Amino acid sequence: MAALVLEYYLLLRSVLRAKPRLRACLSRCRHCRIFFLADPRNAGRRDLGCPFGCREADRKRQSTRRSVAYYRDPVGKRKKSALNQRRTKPSAPKPQPAAPDTSVFQPGSAQWDEAMLEHVRMVSSWIEGRRVSRNEILEMLARVLRQRTMCRRRKIDQAVAWLKEHPP
Ligand SMILES: [Zn+2]
Repeated sequence: MAALVLEYYLLLRSVLRAKPRLRACLSRCRHCRIFFLADPRNAGRRDLGCPFGCREADRKRQSTRRSVAYYRDPVGKRKKSALNQRRTKPSAPKPQPAAPDTSVFQPGSAQWDEAMLEHVRMVSSWIEGRRVSRNEILEMLARVLRQRTMCRRRKIDQAVAWLKEHPP
């Protein structure tokens, strides 16, 4: 993990050297303190969560807080008790379980976190000065992943060859 963050920071630094105007977008996560490039509209804000999980966690916490507040207020309470009554009524038809959301399991996107994908897309667009599409990012990621797998395989092959010559 530390190696990944280091790699990310080195990349971020070279991006900022190449595109100094992106420096204005440099923000720090208020939770994990990681640096990241934020939307120019949020430049200068100090209450942002990073796109690597903290923002999503924030969003979940807020939605929990909202629903707790909702059920606490009298109108919400009435609705909830109606809901509970409906639930306990034996004659009420059982609600069908919601169909699993298959949108995130589309081929090619299964292994990528959507928030992360959008962040990479956004930053790539700023760096390239054009609108980079989600598909381009998916293709790029697939390419990088293929290369990494190939590199790793080559290293393993070398290690195996070396072990053959130098048996333990
Ligand atoms: Zn964070």
